[in-house]
Amino acid sequence: MGMSGLSPRFVDVILPVPLPGTFTYSLPLEWEDQVIPGVRVVVQFGSHKVFAAVVKSVHGTAPSTYAVKPVLDVLDPQPVLALRQLDFWSWISDYYLSTPGEVMAAALPVALRLQSETRISLHPDYNGDHSVLTDREYLVAEALEIQESLTLKEIGTILHLKNPMPVVRNLLSKGVAAAQEEVEERVKPRFVDFVVFGKACSSEQQIGEWMSRLEKRAARQLDVLLAFLQICREEDAKEVEKGVLLKRSGVSSTVFSALLKQEVFEIIKRRVDRVRPYEGPLIQPVELNPYQEQALLGIRQGFAEGKVVMLHGVTSSGKTEVYIHLIAEALREGKQVLYLLPEIALTMQLIGRLQKHFGGRMLVYHSRFNEQERVEVWNRLLDDNLNTIQGGRLVVGARSSVLLPFDKLGLIIVDEEHDSSYKQVDPGPRYNARDAAVVLAAKQDARVLLGTATPSMESYFNALSGKYALVTLDKRHAGLEMPLVRIVDMKDARKRKQVQGHFSQALLEELRLNLEAGKQSILFQNRRGFAPSLECNLCSWSPRCVNCDVSLTYHKKNHELRCHYCGYVQSMPQRCAACGDQDLRMRGYGTERIEEELTLLFPEAKVARLDYDTTRSKSGYQNIISSFEEGAVDILIGTQMVTKGLDFDKVSLVGILNADALMGFPEFRAHERGFQLLAQVSGRAGRRDQGHVVVQSYNIHHPVLSYVLKHDFQGFYFHELNERHRFHYPPYYRLIEIRLKHKDERQIERMAAQLIISLKKTFGNRVLGPTSPYVSRVRNYHLRHLMIKIEKTLVMGDVKKRLMSALEDYRKIPENRSLIVLVDVDPL
Ligand code: ADP
Ligand code: ZN
Ligand code: ZN
Repeated sequence: MGMSGLSPRFVDVILPVPLPGTFTYSLPLEWEDQVIPGVRVVVQFGSHKVFAAVVKSVHGTAPSTYAVKPVLDVLDPQPVLALRQLDFWSWISDYYLSTPGEVMAAALPVALRLQSETRISLHPDYNGDHSVLTDREYLVAEALEIQESLTLKEIGTILHLKNPMPVVRNLLSKGVAAAQEEVEERVKPRFVDFVVFGKACSSEQQIGEWMSRLEKRAARQLDVLLAFLQICREEDAKEVEKGVLLKRSGVSSTVFSALLKQEVFEIIKRRVDRVRPYEGPLIQPVELNPYQEQALLGIRQGFAEGKVVMLHGVTSSGKTEVYIHLIAEALREGKQVLYLLPEIALTMQLIGRLQKHFGGRMLVYHSRFNEQERVEVWNRLLDDNLNTIQGGRLVVGARSSVLLPFDKLGLIIVDEEHDSSYKQVDPGPRYNARDAAVVLAAKQDARVLLGTATPSMESYFNALSGKYALVTLDKRHAGLEMPLVRIVDMKDARKRKQVQGHFSQALLEELRLNLEAGKQSILFQNRRGFAPSLECNLCSWSPRCVNCDVSLTYHKKNHELRCHYCGYVQSMPQRCAACGDQDLRMRGYGTERIEEELTLLFPEAKVARLDYDTTRSKSGYQNIISSFEEGAVDILIGTQMVTKGLDFDKVSLVGILNADALMGFPEFRAHERGFQLLAQVSGRAGRRDQGHVVVQSYNIHHPVLSYVLKHDFQGFYFHELNERHRFHYPPYYRLIEIRLKHKDERQIERMAAQLIISLKKTFGNRVLGPTSPYVSRVRNYHLRHLMIKIEKTLVMGDVKKRLMSALEDYRKIPENRSLIVLVDVDPL
């Protein structure tokens, strides 16, 4: 490095602020050797704030427009990210028109994103061991024992240091402290009571003695002991969840407490939201059937041609088994593999299935996990990048795992590639993880497999046009037939009085038969709550949200009205607010109402509901799924959550209560979404024997339904493609949506009109709008949308540059600055 010391050095850094571009600081001589791209430095930005910024480049060019400030400190001896990530981040921010700071904030775990206001707390798992701390660290830890949380600024005051970041960094990496955001995360780590044998039962002999003792004196307690042993044997475990044990043995907690007191049992707390390391024997991939074998060959060939491969395989065709083969192959080469899944498809069920194959080489990255666990995954990957990875590394994760520090990627699998949750909507960067994955893989010479039973229009278009290689698996495994779909004409059924509540006779009959046969059913209704609106029978008044332009949904459980957009809650009105009449009627129906009707229609059936309301707590979700899996539930009612990633052997009937609601949205993807949902949820039926699907509709001639009926994806695709072509939508055109927000309606009208005029100067009639979205006011902001449709012959880079400069010009006028402008490239 000798020569570099002669001329002044500068660094360009990414700051976690929503401003375009990078920022230049001068680099004091003493750090010249240490500072390389990817390390964090401490810099001042604005008059008071200090940030940890990521160095993007080191150079000798002083900026001409502003006086540079010096770097205040260096936080890392080594880069905290993979260098190639910087390049990938640039692509994301360029392509999705977001700032580098936004991308950095989305990618870096909270613990790596320090700034003056960052609040630090003691780490919940810190054991109080002071011996590992330096004097300064000790001072901070001590203060945190009293204070609960401190900002970096306050810590600076305590230590009499202008820049306490290095001290804080050490506390974080030693696991003593954690960023407050981590500690207060929406989903707190959840601890559950597990039962293990206590001191009085520490040997086989003692257990035997207790058995005979209890047999004479306390039969109920013996039930618990026997249930415990039974479950341990079944699960090959030494501990049992307390709730499971009580349920199985059917005793009260008093009986159980007696056993605790006698130290027969003991309670330990276990984190349940954490994937537990798998310790069992690893199993080999299954032997593929001939169709899968053929598919695997096709995939390899596509890869060999350097193409992204689309695997279009019907539900239960064994796509996952094919993935497992490919993953095993890539791991053998010592590569990193990323298996992307939609958020809610990332179930314990699937994780368990993969763990049996890949054990400790598999990491899971998930927004339901806490920050500490995310940092662990992050650091493991950084380690991988420095060393040879023995046996490779598999990361299974949702959308944001494309932002992890991969550097040795061999394969990316995007499962359920059509899923809309791959797109991040808010905050920016508004990226699509599926598309970003294709770019990420290209940058690392990795292969990409997009898998689904219901491809997105875009990907299938790419596959048919030869840009991607297409591989099809159209046979379910083991000769299983596709489910039998039956469409029920609800108009007709109503006329004939063959409807009870919201159930047709046909669906009720199927449900009854299924119950009698001891089989399970899933009912799909894509609305939660009891009734989506309430209406005065006399004057048609209906209660609406005070913050949003939407009617309030009635939730019967708490007897209240709730806004599904902002969370506003009010109690159920007794009378009409307009005319005072008391005859308020429910309109429409959600999962809660279906559940109630069902319990009246089938009082003997065990019914459970899976939706946002019943799964607020992470364990809620897992509990419902588990009891359905165990057969403790006959009928599961749910929203979209029941359509994804679940594989239940005993489900042989799926009922769709209102297919029309799935296709009626005023947006160009409505039919695509409707088809996908119907086909996916149908695929849940009959994973063992041919299943039945009953679709209720008031519009049975809807074209989408006929394709669902025949399991005809291609038919649907060409039908829809034609529409897309006619109306200038993807895959023929590219879209950029501009979403405007303002608190004042008159202002937004005026500003939107003005903005459109100025954009038309550049884009002509490619600009459409402004339109009011379906819900045109949310959280007191009025919303308007503009859309730019761009033919594929234009160079997108130019288009985006022009758009940004037009928006910049618009913002130069001070009175326009109160308008919030969000740009969404490739909106869904
Ligand atoms: P998909 O991912 O296409 O929905 P899965 O991979 O989940 O399908 O396969 C459906 C079921 O069939 C699973 O229980 C799976 O284990 C089983 N299966 C698929 N292929 C095979 C095979 N070749 N040998 C044994 N079982 C298989
Ligand atoms: Zn009224
Ligand atoms: Zn609201």
